[in-house]
Amino acid sequence: MGQEKLVQKINCTICPNMCRFDCPVTTVVKKETVAPAGKMRLSVMLEKGMLEENKELYSYFYQCTGCRSCEHWCPFENLIVPELLLDVKAQATENGMAPKAVYNLDKQLKKTSTLYPPEQLAPLPQIKEAAPEVLFFAGCAYRSHNPGAINAAIKVLKTAGVKVTLLEDEKCCGFPASCLGLNTTSMELAKQTAEKIKASGAKILVTSCPECLQTFKTRYPEAGIELAMEVLHFSEYIARLLEKKLLVFNPLPAFMVYHDPCVLARAEKIYQEPREILGQIPEFNLLESSFSGEATHCCGGGQVYDLIEPGNALAISRLRAEELNVPNAQAIVTSCPFCEDMLGRSSVMPVFDLAEIIWAALDDEGHDAFLRKTLTARLHSNPELQSVKLDVDRGLVTLRGKVAFWEQVVEAGHQAGLYPGVYSVVNQVTIPGQKKKKKPKINTKGKHQYPPADVVIIGAGIVGASLARELSRYKLDIVLLEKEADVACGTSKANNAMVHPALFVEPGSLKHKLNLRGNELYTKAAEELDFPLQRTGLLGFIRDEKQRSLLKAIKAVAAINQVPGVEILDDEAAVCSKNPNVKGTVGGFFASTSAMTCPYKAVVAYAENAVLNGVKLYLDSPVIGMEVVNEQVKAVITEQGVFPARFVLNAAGVYADEIAELAGAPEFTIHPRKGEHILFDRKYSNILTGCNADLSQPPDAHTKGGGVVLTIDGNLMIGPTAVETPDKEDHSCTSEGLNKMLSKFAPFIAHMPKDSIIAYFAGVRAATYTEDFHIKPSRFVKGLINVGGIQSPGLASAPAIAEYVIHMLAQEGLALEENPNFNPIRRSFPVFREQTKEGKQKLIAQDRRYGNIICRCEMVTEAEIVRAIHGIIPATTVDAVKRRTRAGMGRCQSGFCLPRVAKILSRELRVPIEQITKDGEGSNLIIGETRGVM
Ligand SMILES: Cc1cc2nc3c(=O)[nH]c(=O)nc-3n(C[C@H](O)[C@H](O)[C@H](O)COP(=O)(O)OP(=O)(O)OC[C@H]3O[C@@H](n4cnc5c(N)ncnc54)[C@H](O)[C@@H]3O)c2cc1C
Ligand code: SF4
Ligand code: SF4
Repeated sequence: MGQEKLVQKINCTICPNMCRFDCPVTTVVKKETVAPAGKMRLSVMLEKGMLEENKELYSYFYQCTGCRSCEHWCPFENLIVPELLLDVKAQATENGMAPKAVYNLDKQLKKTSTLYPPEQLAPLPQIKEAAPEVLFFAGCAYRSHNPGAINAAIKVLKTAGVKVTLLEDEKCCGFPASCLGLNTTSMELAKQTAEKIKASGAKILVTSCPECLQTFKTRYPEAGIELAMEVLHFSEYIARLLEKKLLVFNPLPAFMVYHDPCVLARAEKIYQEPREILGQIPEFNLLESSFSGEATHCCGGGQVYDLIEPGNALAISRLRAEELNVPNAQAIVTSCPFCEDMLGRSSVMPVFDLAEIIWAALDDEGHDAFLRKTLTARLHSNPELQSVKLDVDRGLVTLRGKVAFWEQVVEAGHQAGLYPGVYSVVNQVTIPGQKKKKKPKINTKGKHQYPPADVVIIGAGIVGASLARELSRYKLDIVLLEKEADVACGTSKANNAMVHPALFVEPGSLKHKLNLRGNELYTKAAEELDFPLQRTGLLGFIRDEKQRSLLKAIKAVAAINQVPGVEILDDEAAVCSKNPNVKGTVGGFFASTSAMTCPYKAVVAYAENAVLNGVKLYLDSPVIGMEVVNEQVKAVITEQGVFPARFVLNAAGVYADEIAELAGAPEFTIHPRKGEHILFDRKYSNILTGCNADLSQPPDAHTKGGGVVLTIDGNLMIGPTAVETPDKEDHSCTSEGLNKMLSKFAPFIAHMPKDSIIAYFAGVRAATYTEDFHIKPSRFVKGLINVGGIQSPGLASAPAIAEYVIHMLAQEGLALEENPNFNPIRRSFPVFREQTKEGKQKLIAQDRRYGNIICRCEMVTEAEIVRAIHGIIPATTVDAVKRRTRAGMGRCQSGFCLPRVAKILSRELRVPIEQITKDGEGSNLIIGETRGVM
């Protein structure tokens, strides 16, 4: 041992040894002998012959990760404990007294010249560059622990236009052998690798592995090996590329904590570069742990400690993983394969290499790789979702696997869909007993061919109907297809009827944008189309001073969401000024733009105006297939025939995902979410007006909290609930759901008798897993535009959805020439019940059937029913009559008027009464006449 080294060791033995508190090995082994000074003492005593050589003694010298934490605290210049241990380790290997693992490694290195067996090493990307600028040295550890990072680094360099090459037959740099005291092996490997590096002809040697970096930069020259080229860490080289503006980052919304690898930060002093690079990625939030930069803590994997003392190494990495678990962190980013391996095993968060993050911010492929890793970690952090596998293609995530319960299917979808940057989720995870829907075999031979249309719209809910009407402003052939016997038979008939003010929607979402605009457009639409709309405002209130912060939050959200007319109400008096019947509050807010409408009347109005302006509506026409040629939509196929189309708008509500699949273009999955409502007798309409939300009640997940509203027809309504269901047709109301609502809204309804409830019903929301509207041209089929995921506030957004989609159609190449004959006006029939006495008499004088009341509860006359049956869109079922006239919507819920309505339908449609249905095929009301009933 050289004199200088001996002096350093002796210095260490007499030092107060305070660094031991930061020595990771000492922390987990808890023995003074493995502390920095402890090892030095043993080394000096061995040197001086004060201790007898044995395996146990030598094993202590291998109790070091080379982290150089001790150096950070050390009062002596250049006292580097791991360096001072090298000679005793060399002595150990020569004397045959090193730990067994060291000899195993030596064998491995001698046999294959790699640190790990070849089957553990991923093949390197095959790239050849004649006159390379950069030689990228991957390193055995990256090839074993995170080959994705090698791929990422190469992609990044290539994106910047760097002429990069890899060694054809890359072997170990020599580092592991050298730090274990295997000097001969180390030297042989170093010479071998150095020759290959020099032969590459590259100007710069770049590596992501800190240990390889240190070996090339410091150990080779110390051993007399000159590479005659610049040696840089990947982050240093990327920093140069960024300076030259050769890389442009896309936003990568994420919160990640950076872990400084010991060798990189402490030995190589490289800790600014990675931070500067990450700092340049838009929307990337870099978090810091309490020990960072040169003060970083070890991951346990340095100096291949994990191969020597795996238990201790893992214990160290767990401590570091805990430190890195800082608030808001979703993942760890670092730049060392050993750290990635160790932390990957001990942290609950996924661990990324710096190159993977840079690549994720550069292009789709990189982003997909990033999502694959992130989402797999998110899913698998839940033991119930371990079997779920995923694929990512340009942000579109496809989930596969089997789980036990439907809630877990939904949970898996949300874990993926709610992660920022996910385009959409196709969820193919199944539960036991779930039947796979068979794709119908369609034979178009012999089917009726309809004339070609410019646009075929599938689904006549509020979205399809408003699309049809707004498109009829242009000189286009438009077809609107609906599977049911009437329009407004889907979710548009069973909802809360609110035109929301865009207050409780995520800022920046499509829902937000279209709700805000849709709300604004409703006034004109209701005027032109003559459907009911009342700007009642939304009154929200708190009952406890402790909730006042909620009002502040609402004020802030109103500003962020740009919602006009939001007023904070400071006390009960201010709340009562908006609604005198709301008592026991201490404050609230009022959003004046919130409105109530009648959703099915709005659909009928939109659809009728569309028909008046030339749109061809086909009811009872379920779409069963799509003709797609060369990835271009050609026609829509229904039971009745084939509708050739240039563009297809998929507005099929809860079935929109299945329609996309019919086109061979699955792009999103809808997970139906049921919402139940309770409707009260009109005689309680004086209790509240407008829309009311009790903010003291915790909201259900994925609802705006529900509330108490007065429908446009004067019925008090409470709800809705939010229940995930596998069945898109689940319109059942459960006692659980109803009781939940009754107890949640008890302050409003406590004094009302139970028999004041006249009906309950449920609607099904068409939620996607991103929980936003999915309004996008299909990625896979040209001419198909998906208007899917239209859950709440879909009703409020519909007019804006139409506007948005028409703009999209224009971008996709549809010429929009104005239709000079477009008439925006549609009028509804007079409602007898709403007339003055004189008005009623006038109507009866015009048509005596106004004098024949058919529905007593709602005062609906025969004339109104007949006019509905012969309307622009004829009402041909009992429910269709109901939607247009309210016959059967009163207290007796059709008990009295149903047979009479059926009889009028039979008479007017000239069909036997047995053919009259409640709401279309299969819902016939009567098998045959029984004498005396009618
Ligand atoms: C409980 C509840 C409360 C809600 N409250 C509100 C609210 O207060 N405010 C608000 O803004 N939004 C609310 N919503 C959301 C709103 O009701 C919907 O977003 C909106 O009605 C969706 O309209 P749509 O036209 O997309 O779907 P739908 O009305 O379901 O229309 C889709 C149509 O496509 C048809 N169809 C399906 N498959 C085919 C096929 N193969 N061939 C032909 N036709 C087909 C269906 O029959 C249906 O008529 C609520 C929803 C629920 C469930
Ligand atoms: S280098 Fe790290 S593990 Fe080794 S003695 Fe120093 S602090 Fe302990
Ligand atoms: S490594 Fe430095 S600080 Fe630690 S015991 Fe030795 S001399 Fe003291």
